[in-house]
Parts: sequence; structure tokens; C-alpha cells
Amino acid sequence: MSQESAIVFTIFYALICFCIVYPSTEFVSAGLTVDHVFSSTLGSESITFVQHHIRRTSLNLMVHSLLPLMYIRVYFMQFASSNDEDSDSVASSLPDSYSTVMLVWRVLIAAIVLLPALVAAAIYYWSRNNWQNHPVAKYLAKFAIPGTRFEDWRAVAASINDEYRRDDKVVIRMNPVARIVVTESWIIKTGPYWINVAHQDDTALIAYKSDTHDVSQEAFETVQFVNIAVKPTRAGIREFSIRINALDFKDLQDRLSRPITILSSVKFHRSVLDHFVEVFKDQVAQNPRHRLDVDVAVDNLDNCFACMQAQPNIKIQKHCLDVDEAGEALPEARCCQVCNCRPMWCIECVAKWFASRQNQSERESWLQQKCTCPMCRARFCILDVCYIEGRR
Ligand SMILES: [Zn+2]
Ligand SMILES: [Zn+2]
Ligand SMILES: [Zn+2]
Repeated sequence: MSQESAIVFTIFYALICFCIVYPSTEFVSAGLTVDHVFSSTLGSESITFVQHHIRRTSLNLMVHSLLPLMYIRVYFMQFASSNDEDSDSVASSLPDSYSTVMLVWRVLIAAIVLLPALVAAAIYYWSRNNWQNHPVAKYLAKFAIPGTRFEDWRAVAASINDEYRRDDKVVIRMNPVARIVVTESWIIKTGPYWINVAHQDDTALIAYKSDTHDVSQEAFETVQFVNIAVKPTRAGIREFSIRINALDFKDLQDRLSRPITILSSVKFHRSVLDHFVEVFKDQVAQNPRHRLDVDVAVDNLDNCFACMQAQPNIKIQKHCLDVDEAGEALPEARCCQVCNCRPMWCIECVAKWFASRQNQSERESWLQQKCTCPMCRARFCILDVCYIEGRR
């Protein structure tokens, strides 16, 4: 085979390795990952979280350590004969440097062959006594206090497994190979070869850096990432850092039992929508208040129809004079209409609905535009959105 095909093979193999070691989101969703292919031997993550990750990280080590060996095996089967002829001619002209190169090659190949054997031996040793010797088991043992409910590493693992099974955990994917799991008392970061664990009671979290990236220039869309240092104070437990999308920050904070310290260098970048909601609220605050009819008892309103959380605090009530910026009367087709719907929405949801109905490329003029009531489709403008008296 020619040298070109050897190069093509090398590039192709490097790509395959990259996809195995760092699978893209498409590979993950298609189930083309080491975890997925060997899922039956790894055990269920949702039932035995710790044991699953001990097996998964060991398996990753094994599979990844085999990749260089597979490469040289195929390479020599396919390309070795033609290389021999080339190397013979090189050998006669450059005998000294050739033998040095050959020595380096032999050492490298010996290392490549030995690596999987060493990894296999280590995994065999770790797996004895039900993974008692595994580094993760030894790490968890540092949380154990004899005489308490955390008797040994298995009790610690059982606590993590138990909390992971509950619905109140928060799982944030950092990248294709790392996730953050926060349960009632544990903070865990899972990586390809290791899992970091910290107990919430003796851990400080510090947001120390943020960075913003443009996703698309036209739509002013940006994504912000926050880097957070997880600093356990317990002896022997290593510090680790997590990097999450700023949108996930609140989820993370809500699940933690103590606040994340935010250094002054970290500035949370507000999204265009958040900014719009603020401006919308300021404008509505200047509009007349709406007094509820006596027959609609204040406590008789359901929660907001959109978010299902806040209480409705606005009513669409026509107040504008149907004139344009120059004071000229608007044509019938652009006039606001009367909405007879009862108060159903909170101000945030109305502002977001309003924004969603606008032309995304004309952000500056959103406030001057119109929108239709989500229920009755009556046209309204921002002057017609009124806070309900006593509910702000
Ligand atoms: Zn709402
Ligand atoms: Zn309406
Ligand atoms: Zn209007």
C-alpha cells in the first residue's frame, strides 16, 4: 500500500478515536458511546449510581488504552511490507540515526502494547472484593466516619445512590463527557476517568470567572458560561471546578443548601429578553391601574395561565388613543381592540408573550408595536396593559 493510503488511514483512525473519547452530542443521542454499547455490564446509573460510574470509568480507561494498540496492529498488517523496502534503503545510507529511530520506535511500541495490559491488571486488582480497591471507593472512604451511618465507603455510596434515585436532584451536562449532579447533600462531577464528590455541608462554592460567546451575530444572541470552584474543607477531598451555562446557574443554586459566592469579577450578562421584560415593566408601571370588579374576589383568581406560578397581576384594558407617533389617527386595521378577558397572566408572561410576537430583527421598535391577547386575540399595545390595583 502507498504512503498516501497510510496517511488517510491515520487521519481516519484519529477521527474515530476522537469520536470515541469525546463523543459529540449527535453520537450521545444516537447511543454510539462506550457507555451505551456496554450498558448491560455497567449496571443501572439510576439505581446504583456510584457502582455504575466505577465500572464506567474503568471501562473507559480500558477501551481508550486499547486504541493505540489497535492502530499499530492494523497499520503493520496493512502497510508494514511496503515500509520495509523503504526502510532498507534508508538503513544503508543512514545507519546510526536509523538505529536510534528504530530504538525509539521499539520503546514506543512496547509501551503501546504494555499499556492495555497494565490497565487490565489494575482493573482486575480494583474490582476484587466488590471494587473495594478502586480509587473512587478509597476516595469515598474519606467521607466515612466509623460509628455513624457512614460506616464505610459502601454506606457513603448507598447515600449517594439513594439521593440520586430521587426526583429532586439537579443534573447539568457540562460537555459531552462531563456532568454535574447535585442531590440533597452531595455535589458530584462525573468525567471520563474519574468522579469528584463533595458533601454540601462542608463545601464552599465560588463563582470566579465568566465568559461570553457570540452564538449568532445577527440576533444578538450570546451564551455565557460561569466557572465555579467547588472547595471542600474536608481533609483529603480535592477541590474541583465546574463550568456551566449561566442559564443553569439558578437551577444549581436552588438545589444547594448554601449560597454560591459570586466574586465581583463575575458579571451576569442579561439576555435580550430579560432586558425587554424590565423595560416592559417600567412602562406598565406608568399606566393607569385597573380596579377589579367587586364580583371578582381578589383571592378568586387562578395562577397565571402561562407560568402557573405567579398570580395574575395585570389586565388588558384599552387606554391608548389609537394614534401614531405623529398624533395622527390610525386606520381601523391597526387600532387596539377591547379585551374582555378576566386577569389571567402575570406581567412577566405578558412581556415574554409580547416579545415573542414581534419581529426578532427590529428590537428597538418592539415597545411601539402591538400584540394580540392570547385568549381573545384582541389587539393591544403596551399602553393597554394595566397593573391590577394592589397587586404588583
Ligand atoms: Zn406568569
Ligand atoms: Zn383578551
Ligand atoms: Zn392600544
